[in-house]
This record gives sequence, structure tokens and C-alpha cells, in this order.
Amino acid sequence: MDLLEHQGKELFASFGLPISPGALALTPTEAVAAAERIGCPVVVKAQVHTGGRGKAGGIRLAEDLEAVSRCAEKILGLDIKGHVVRRLWVEAATDIAAEFYVSFMLDRGTRRHLGMLSAQGGVDIEDVSANSPEAISRIQIDPSDGFAADDARNWVTSAGLPGADVSEAVEVLLALYRAYREGDADLIEVNPLVLTTDGRLQVLDAKVTLDSSARFRHPEYDAYDKTAPRDAREQQAHSRGLQYVGLEGNVGVIANGAGLAMASVDMVSDVGGSAANFLDIGGGANAEVMSAALEVLNDDPSVRAIFINIFGGITKGEEVANGIIEAMRRVDIASPIVVRLDGTNSAEGWNILRPRLSDRLELAPDMLAAARLAVGRAGGVQADSPAGAGSGALEEGAR
Ligand code: GDP
Ligand code: MN
Repeated sequence: MDLLEHQGKELFASFGLPISPGALALTPTEAVAAAERIGCPVVVKAQVHTGGRGKAGGIRLAEDLEAVSRCAEKILGLDIKGHVVRRLWVEAATDIAAEFYVSFMLDRGTRRHLGMLSAQGGVDIEDVSANSPEAISRIQIDPSDGFAADDARNWVTSAGLPGADVSEAVEVLLALYRAYREGDADLIEVNPLVLTTDGRLQVLDAKVTLDSSARFRHPEYDAYDKTAPRDAREQQAHSRGLQYVGLEGNVGVIANGAGLAMASVDMVSDVGGSAANFLDIGGGANAEVMSAALEVLNDDPSVRAIFINIFGGITKGEEVANGIIEAMRRVDIASPIVVRLDGTNSAEGWNILRPRLSDRLELAPDMLAAARLAVGRAGGVQADSPAGAGSGALEEGAR
């Protein structure tokens, strides 16, 4: 879950990091009122879930209240990479001597935390990484060892932050690491961390991605949810109580159990297709749940075929079969459906489905056959899949 800049800064402030005083504003009038309390000059900043706001005109310096009003009017409603600005963060302007970069993120490959620190901040770190990789000082932190003051000191020395007080930088890095760990973040990025003209360090931007699985120990996550942008499909699925993750492909997947759902997604790509989603309907495969699942996939224009993969345990085959038929009666399904039905009472289920079979509803003897059939019905092997490395034009044609 991604935070807005001001939410990230509030998190940072609770760990004692140096943040400029600021306030939220939803209208130019509120922005002016905020600036009046804070004192000009201020910076008016678009609060959207994307970076590059500065370049897009979403960050403006205002010397007086009139300018605040003008800036707020310009920024509100601005479209920044598809994100329309609805809220502003107004904060005391900082006199900048130098801009640095610092981040912590989870590095799944090495099973460690990766820290990156650079004296070249304020610009895209990808550019720095591409043009002068030596300008970024990286450290790996083993979570069981932790991150000590000496580690931070060596790191600051190797990055060389000209003009910064080393002890102060060490304090900032330690606090940032604490915010990252105790806040249960997957990513924390400060770009820029600035050196002010009077020689202090100040956190000027905040990009924070939280680990949603840590929600149970963070009541504050609920408030972040309200501003989080959601994939429309995911929103629809979650409101129906389905475990759903949107993907890029064209084969809709419905399975019972997260393990089977993941295996289904994998199998679709193994046979050269690509899944449009992960969808776990859980234990029950009754008409209610099946209709909800099919409706979600039906509303996804990229879905070309639907692969229903059910292994009955407690769920009985005939219930699944009846659920599918009832769901098809309720919902006008646009894509052909391929069913794999195995497990408890699967024979009974097959008997129910058999008379209803057509080119809109097909049964496959096993999971692999079902995946193949569904991928075929969806238009065949995808050009970008490992099993179908063809030309891009072919893929265009297939769609
Ligand atoms: P981003 O473009 O979305 O990354 O937004 P940032 O918050 O990083 O702001 C972009 C740039 O605006 C920074 O790199 C700074 O150069 C500038 N900026 C932001 N806040 C201030 C400020 O208080 N004073 C001054 N002078 N510049 C600022
Ligand atoms: Mn930034």
C-alpha cells in the first residue's frame, strides 16, 4: 500500500525525523489559510500516488498568500501521469544548499534490506544509477543483525554527503531505518533529503510503501486505505469478499484455494498463455460465490476465456456444477468457460455439466488440458510468454 507524501511525512515525524511544518488543503482558500498559519514562503505540493510531480508542475514555491492561491488553483485538478490532484500539502519552504537521496527497500533476492544513499539527489535515481552507478552507495542489512550507528557512519562516509554533519546524517539514517522497520514498510525513499543553507538536514519528500500483511498491528493503515488508489477490478472483487489480484493477461482464472489459484496462473503461463487475474473463491463454490466471481471476470474487457479450476474437498462436485450453471443463468458471460472439476463427487458434477456443454462451456479431463484449452480459446499462445516467444505483431493479431 502506497502512502501519499504527507502521510509518509507524518510517519517519519513520529520517528523524530526532520520534517517541515505543513498542513493539508483541499481548496485554494484552505491552502491560503494553511500558509497564513505556517508563514510564507511556502511550497504547495500535489498529493498524488506518483513521483515526478515537480517536473509536471505539481510542486510550486509561493512567496506570498496571493501566490499561494494562484499555485493552489494551478495544481488542483492537474493530471499527473493519470492521477488527478485533489489534495495539496502546504509546507514551509526550505532554503536548499544540496539535495541527497536515501532509500531502504526489501531485497527479496538477497533476503536482506537494501539501503541506497547518494549525494546526487533531487533527480531520478534511475538516471543516476544508469549514468554514474558509483554515485550511489549501497548497503545490505541482514534483518537479524540490524543496522547500527557504526554501519550508518561508514555508509555516510562512503556516500560522501558534502557539507552534511556526519553525526546528524547518522541520526537521520537510523531514524529512517526505524521508520522502515517498525512502520512495516517494503520501501522508504527520501528524494531529496536536503542540506539547508544553514547546514541542517531536512526530509523534503517521502515515498513509502507499506506491507499490507502487517495491517493487524497497524490500526493507522485503515486511514491510508481511504486515499489509496485501487485497481477498479480489485475494488469490485474485494467488495464481494473475493480474494482477487488483477494481472495483465487474457485468461480469467477462478479456483478454490489460494494454492490452486496460484498453480492455475502458473499453468496458464506454462502452456504459453497469460492469466488476467488471480481469483480464489475459497471453500464455497456455490452459485452466490461463483456468480460473483464470474461477474468480476465478465467486467474485465481483457478477459477472452475463463478457466475454472476446482478441486472438491469439503466442496462437493455437484454443488460446484450447480453453482456454475446457476451463475451462467444469472450472468450473461461474454467469454467461453473451460472447467476442470476434480475431487469429492466430481463424477456427479460432470453428470450435471455434461448436458449443458457447448462451445461456451467445456469440460477438460485435467488441469493441464483445461489450461491448454482455455489458452486456446483466449486466442492462443501469447507472444510475450516464455513458451511463445514470437513477434509483437503476432500478439497484436491474436488480440
Ligand atoms: P517529486 O518531483 O514528486 O519528487 O517532488 P519533490 O517533493 O521531490 O519536489 C521536487 C523538487 O522540488 C525537489 O527536488 C526540490 O528541488 C523542489 N522543492 C521541494 N520542496 C522545496 C522547498 O521547500 N524549497 C525549495 N527551494 N525547493 C523545493
Ligand atoms: Mn521527490
